[in-house]
Amino acid sequence: MLDTSPRKALQLASPAKGLFLGEIRGEALMPFPSIAPVEQETLRFVIESIDKFMADKGEDFRRFDVAGEQPHDYVEELKSLGLFSLIIPEEFSGLGLSNSGYARVLQQTSRYDASTSLTIGAHSSIGMKALLLFGTPEQKAKYLPRLATGELIAAFCLTESGSGSDAASVKTHAVKNADGSWVLNGEKIWITNGGTAGFFTVFAKTEGDGGKMTGFIVEREWPGVSTGPKEDKMGIRASCTTTVRFDNVRVPPECVIGEEGKGFKVAMAVLNNGRTGLGGGCVGAMKRLIELSVAQATQRKQFGKSIAEFQLIKDKIATMTALCFASESIVSVVGHLIDSGSDDFSVEAAMSKVYVSEALWTVADEALQIAGGNGFMREFPYERVVRDCRINRIFEGTNEILRLYIGLSGMKDSGEALKDVARGLKGIFNDPIKGFGILTDYASKKVGQLTPIGRERFTGLAEVLASDTLVFEQGVAKLAQAVEATLSRYRKGIIEQQLATRRVADVAIDLFVGMCVLARVNTLIQERGVGACTDELRVVKVLTNFSRLRISNNLKALHKNADAESFALADSVLTKGGYGWDVL
Ligand SMILES: Cc1cc2nc3c(=O)[nH]c(=O)nc-3n(C[C@H](O)[C@H](O)[C@H](O)COP(=O)(O)OP(=O)(O)OC[C@H]3O[C@@H](n4cnc5c(N)ncnc54)[C@H](O)[C@@H]3O)c2cc1C
Repeated sequence: MLDTSPRKALQLASPAKGLFLGEIRGEALMPFPSIAPVEQETLRFVIESIDKFMADKGEDFRRFDVAGEQPHDYVEELKSLGLFSLIIPEEFSGLGLSNSGYARVLQQTSRYDASTSLTIGAHSSIGMKALLLFGTPEQKAKYLPRLATGELIAAFCLTESGSGSDAASVKTHAVKNADGSWVLNGEKIWITNGGTAGFFTVFAKTEGDGGKMTGFIVEREWPGVSTGPKEDKMGIRASCTTTVRFDNVRVPPECVIGEEGKGFKVAMAVLNNGRTGLGGGCVGAMKRLIELSVAQATQRKQFGKSIAEFQLIKDKIATMTALCFASESIVSVVGHLIDSGSDDFSVEAAMSKVYVSEALWTVADEALQIAGGNGFMREFPYERVVRDCRINRIFEGTNEILRLYIGLSGMKDSGEALKDVARGLKGIFNDPIKGFGILTDYASKKVGQLTPIGRERFTGLAEVLASDTLVFEQGVAKLAQAVEATLSRYRKGIIEQQLATRRVADVAIDLFVGMCVLARVNTLIQERGVGACTDELRVVKVLTNFSRLRISNNLKALHKNADAESFALADSVLTKGGYGWDVL
């Protein structure tokens, strides 16, 4: 087994951000990370218990979905299985799993029931994450042992009716008393575990409407805390989503979480750090859907053959498999970056959320299609999975907002580099030699990146991966060039150019996923030999083929598109109030 213990990322710069600069920071992913052997042992035990507990509950999960709730006894059983203690350190009676290990557990629960994953995931990924990341020793000692047993279930309270994607605009506010305590007022909506939680992480303005936010720990038992009825949802119906209200709630001074006025930073750190939970869950659901589709495709006969023999069905199975492998790879990398103490993984984490949630959406849709009419019937699991997985593209930051974040954060470093060049050019007149030096370095690096000699290499990969690696390396060079052209064209106005930003982000996502998959398959080749990696090499080919096409289309669309017409058409439809045509 290769040494893949949490280690290097600490010293390494963000591999995803490097792509925007034309840099391939492959060292961060090589050898491909794996879960430490001692943790693997614990995980095997946990996974076996989950299988025993959940595998024959298919009918129950269907009932919970129809009823829109998890019975009390069922949640008690989740507690006794230790599923609320997964990431709590052992010193506080938790299981102390790493982010990667936690993602693997949610993978297993998600094979059976997304609502169960959400109940335990909202508790760990977001509900108590601020306490783990920013809590004082006293706060941890007071709450973590009770959170580990599930005596207290946790919820994360950020969203409000007027504040969704624009999370900084919350109206819930807390006013400080003379004794240092706070009075909290406001209402949060769509809070997962809202009705069952005893521990709330709440974000409120502490300096007036336009001012800064602070995070607070709030207990359900405190006077003035109340929750609304369960929301009637499209999917993940058995999970408990409610409003949470705070009416003149007195919050003791010691319940501020993180620094006063730094609540936005705390909330974003929680969401970034929690992404492997959602990622692991999506991978588990994909694996289950692939199993179901394989059974359906081999058993169902039409035109005298099993439908698995038709090319159109084979293509779906291959695509589903490749998407799942790629998703598992990027989730593993993000888990590793977090576990190894990197403080610059938010772009990778956002990429994983976007990619994996959309991969599951495609896989669920194709699985339903392979099942034909059965797929549409409630008797079968497909329609529930499709309903359940739709939320992944909306919560924990919508995929639109995350794409903007990825594109703009990624381009920031290129913007800085361009500024240096601009400064160097100015300096030409004062200090020609120095100025020309900067210009020559920069220009030769950029021109070089597009040539076979100057192009950055993803080194250390097996020869058998050479042609796919070349596609990836060329893509990285083209991305850097496209970023530079885009920034030169729009300059500060890039902030308003959402389609250009999205295209750049999508290219970077495909490249980063490619990087993760190449690193993973390379490590497998090193471990097992190339002859034992035939299917992995097929996955690489399938992925390279469709990401190459998508990358190429996105890069072309940066220059040649119908954006202006598209915006004008949208404006017209918005003004008309609707579609406006009829055949009558
Ligand atoms: C089942 C469920 C559970 C949830 N659980 C929790 C929870 O536990 N805790 C919590 O705090 N919240 C929770 N949420 C809230 C969730 O995080 C928000 O729904 C999400 O952040 C999106 O906010 P919104 O719904 O107000 O959409 P909006 O922000 O109104 O967005 C609507 C659409 O506009 C797009 N959009 C918005 N701004 C821009 C922009 N600048 N540029 C381009 N497009 C834009 C969005 O991408 C989206 O497509 C939950 C929601 C649901 C449905």
